[in-house]
Formats: sequence, structure tokens, C-alpha cells
Amino acid sequence: MARKLDERRIVIASHNSGKVVEIGALLRPYRVEAIAAQALGLPEPEETGDSFEANAALKAHAAAQAARLPALADDSGLVVPALGGAPGIYSARWAGPAKDFAQAMARVERELGGRDRAAVFVAVLALAWPDSHLESFRGEVAGRLVWPPRGNRGFGYDPMFVPQGGSLTFGELDPAEKHRISHRARAFAKLVEACLS
Ligand code: IMP
Repeated sequence: MARKLDERRIVIASHNSGKVVEIGALLRPYRVEAIAAQALGLPEPEETGDSFEANAALKAHAAAQAARLPALADDSGLVVPALGGAPGIYSARWAGPAKDFAQAMARVERELGGRDRAAVFVAVLALAWPDSHLESFRGEVAGRLVWPPRGNRGFGYDPMFVPQGGSLTFGELDPAEKHRISHRARAFAKLVEACLS
């Protein structure tokens, strides 16, 4: 049985303002106030784990300890089986310090060559308490990669990812539609079911 979240204030253990806004909006209907780690001056730990689960957990634990509040972290990325799972947990790092995702997508395309174009977006949400208790939830959305990239409504690898059964890329889809079917939404639905309902 998962631990319920009884507290009404939690820290979002991310320095990515897009994620903070998105997670804050997801939590609002549950009357949970989301505070950004940056607003509390919390440091950003290095992502030294070897899985999405490990990286989400280390970010959530670090923020929960520092803030003495429950903390929610997200670790996500694009997994391409034909590339042995790359870029995977290194999805952000493939874009380099300039966060150049046009370059990261071009690298995926180059390394893929003529191989199978199946891909999966993965998100793991980890909720940690100051006493070190942890609950974590994985969401996935399967699809295929297209080239050239299409659409500018999303971020990261969205313009080259078409979800299964669809024809538009995540970069072309209405954001509300993406958020309905995304890996992050699926992980969040599991969190709500386990800890907020
Ligand atoms: P993290 O901050 O280490 O979890 O980095 C996740 C990276 O994965 C992001 O910088 C994006 O490159 C990629 N990613 C995760 N979720 C999405 C998504 O919904 N669309 C596009 N790219 C994503």
C-alpha cells in the first residue's frame, strides 16, 4: 500500500521551469501547493544514477531532506531500442550545454541509419518524504520516429516522435492532447491513484 500524501505543500525537485509549471498545474486540482526547488534556493544534485528510477529518486530525496517537506521529482527521456536504449537517461545531455535539441535529434537520426524506428518516451515520478520514504511511478508512451522533425509546439525530441495510432508528431499536437496521452501524464495518473485519492 502506497503512503498517502497528507501534506498540502510539496517541493518540485526540478530546476526546469517548464516541468515546475506543468507539475504545479497537475497538482492544483488536488489542492496541493507546489513550490519550486529554485525558490527555496535548493542545489541541483548531479544525476549519477543508471536508471530513470535512480535519478528521479536521488533528486526527490535531496530536495525532501533539504526542504524538510515532501518532494516530487521527474526524470524522463526518449528510449530508442535500435540504439540500445539511447539517448535514454542521457536525453538532456545529448543536447549539450546549449540545450540544442535540433542537434540531438540529428544525432538520433544519424545513429539510427536504416534501423527500426520504434521509440518510447519514459517518465518516472518519484515522491520522497523527509523520513526517506519513497514512492515512484513510471509512465510510457510508445511511438515511432520521423524525419525531418515536424512542429514547434512541444520541446526536446517532440518534433520527431509520433505516438502509436497517430499521424501528428508531439511537436504538432495540441498541447492539451499531448498532456492527455503523454508518458508524464500516465506516471502522474498512477501517482494520483496511489497517493492522492
Ligand atoms: P531530465 O531533466 O534529465 O529528466 O531530462 C529529460 C529530457 O528528456 C528532456 O530534456 C528532453 O530532452 C527529453 N524529454 C522528456 N520528456 C519529453 C517530452 O515530453 N517531449 C520531448 N522530450 C522529452
